[in-house]
Amino acid sequence: MTYRSPGKGAIEYTKQFTEGLTQEDALPVISRILSGELIDASDKRVKHCDYCGYYWRDESLRNTRRTCSGECKTDIKTLQRRKQRADKELINPKPRKRTLQDDYIYWLEYPFWFNEYSMIKIGWKFEAPYDSETIDAVSANNQIYGEGNRMRHLSGDKKV
Ligand SMILES: [Zn+2]
Repeated sequence: MTYRSPGKGAIEYTKQFTEGLTQEDALPVISRILSGELIDASDKRVKHCDYCGYYWRDESLRNTRRTCSGECKTDIKTLQRRKQRADKELINPKPRKRTLQDDYIYWLEYPFWFNEYSMIKIGWKFEAPYDSETIDAVSANNQIYGEGNRMRHLSGDKKV
């Protein structure tokens, strides 16, 4: 049995057992209700709510309701629709719209862009180029100090 937040009908039904009790006294009573101990098995109107899972009493004329309250009914319908939609999507998936990211062939040994436009539109976010000033500074430093870690060179560490 899956329990969700109890609906109005379930609360109403439980209330008749716990009316006037303190919270501490009510807890063991509620657990006895949940175990079915206090439930009148001969009463065909007492049932589990299809949505919240708690016992409640169906007062409807034909005793055909399956949820304890309007809220539970709405919620179970939402749940059913969501499941239906997920099943439908699984069996007959909607063709997904192609995105620019699809032009990146990342799974090969040398990943590449299949389309230059996509590469320029998307690629720069992940491989942002330096601006020309930074490139100038880097190449100037390389000319002065050589390639590699300039800071290590300056600190006198000879292990270059
Ligand atoms: Zn309910």
